[in-house]
Amino acid sequence: MRRTKGRRSGPEQSPNKTSPVPRLTEAASFRIIFRLSFATGEPVRLDPNLLRDHRMRRPFIAGNWKMNLSHRDAVRLAEEIHERVSGIPDRDVALCPTFVSVTGVAQALADSRIQVGGQDCARTDDGAYTGEVSASILKSTGASVVIIGHSERRHVMGETDEVVREKMGKAREHGLRPILCVGETLEERKSGRTLEVVERQIRKGLEGFGGADLTETTIAYEPVWAIGTGEVATPDQAQEVHAAIRGWLKELGGAIGEDIRIQYGGSVKPSNVDGLMAMPDIDGALVGGASLNADDFATLVGFGNG
Ligand code: PEP
Repeated sequence: MRRTKGRRSGPEQSPNKTSPVPRLTEAASFRIIFRLSFATGEPVRLDPNLLRDHRMRRPFIAGNWKMNLSHRDAVRLAEEIHERVSGIPDRDVALCPTFVSVTGVAQALADSRIQVGGQDCARTDDGAYTGEVSASILKSTGASVVIIGHSERRHVMGETDEVVREKMGKAREHGLRPILCVGETLEERKSGRTLEVVERQIRKGLEGFGGADLTETTIAYEPVWAIGTGEVATPDQAQEVHAAIRGWLKELGGAIGEDIRIQYGGSVKPSNVDGLMAMPDIDGALVGGASLNADDFATLVGFGNG
């Protein structure tokens, strides 16, 4: 069984291209697995790759380098990651350095299939906005992806859902593929409001989106309490929210909702990635700390092979 979503034949192909290979539903795939098991009498080992093969969404692992690395170190790390992940098939990979290193990293990765992204973009087009970087300028520096609504921007820089929505619109207007970050704080989780908060962030962030805009979007579910804290959501906790997000995406986009990738983010490490990626609605990871180490990040990209 092969995933069809985003299969890439060369470095230039979009991660969202489809191929004509017929799709299997999740239930049909499980029926085949269990029939095989019954026929051979052998227990089937459900490793993350096998579990993932019944789905059509190609795993997408993105590194968010935040405000780390000198320009030279950023380029060097990009080259090291390229070396280590180039032999890993069927995974989409993106690196998001600081704005000033996007061009250098994009040049260093010109011959690779790794995409380069910004960590944010302005909610306006070019103009008198000192210190801001518009989506069109970001695109012109070599970025194809942009992280929008990261929890540090929402909670440290005070970005509202409305600002996030405007940035999502600008990203798409200028041909960037946004990674829309959503997630609850610890207080919101403790008061039982996780799904309410995440649903509001999803609906607002995707307001006015349809068709290609949705297809080109990735969602990153990042519980705020798990980001940079070492405290990861359990696979079941993450899957519960991812499944809810999948439901809202299907409400918003119909069949397209099934194809949109939902990354998990929050202290993803080599030691916990396999458990997370075995979940049916976890399609990848947005990685902070562990993306600053080439070996760790390559292990995350190659999950399921440990
Ligand atoms: C992030 O920055 O999006 C993130 C998930 O960070 P970390 O992996 O360090 O928790």
